[in-house]
Amino acid sequence: MTDDRSLPFWRTKTLEEMSKDEWESLCDGCGKCCLHKLRDEDTDEVHHTNVACRLLDLETCRCSEYATRFRKVPDCVSLSPALLREIDWLPPSCAYRLVREGKDLPFWHPLRSGSDESVHEAGISGRGRIVSERDAAMLEDHLVDWPGAPMTARQRQSRRK
Ligand code: SF4
Ligand code: SF4
Repeated sequence: MTDDRSLPFWRTKTLEEMSKDEWESLCDGCGKCCLHKLRDEDTDEVHHTNVACRLLDLETCRCSEYATRFRKVPDCVSLSPALLREIDWLPPSCAYRLVREGKDLPFWHPLRSGSDESVHEAGISGRGRIVSERDAAMLEDHLVDWPGAPMTARQRQSRRK
């Protein structure tokens, strides 16, 4: 990609070029990809819900058993550069999607803010508005728009000097 060493890795490397640690650090911990989705069989449209996978920690919005998650949730999706070219349901705020689209990370991303809390403080994550699948009944009763909504201008704005 670019060979400017003054820039952070997500501005100079492609997703394919990133190390495992760099790749993992890109996840902002919003938890939105761990929410159940429904796909309309006729239109192929994705409908989002606020129902979280049972392994999602509703407070941190991170997987509570990330290293061993496939043992309990075999259909958990492991993101990869190749998969990113195929899926259409990642939220517009997702760092993998932003980097793939050639965009910078927003100010609230932990890699820029230095704090895991900033994704929650900026209103990006699911904290405070998601329920566990253990407590939800019908997914159809939990349809919401916000996981797939574009970021607001304020959420997008850069605070980098
Ligand atoms: S949507 Fe993207 S940034 Fe958010 S938790 Fe999932 S992978 Fe991480
Ligand atoms: S197993 Fe973990 S990473 Fe996978 S969907 Fe559930 S909470 Fe998310």
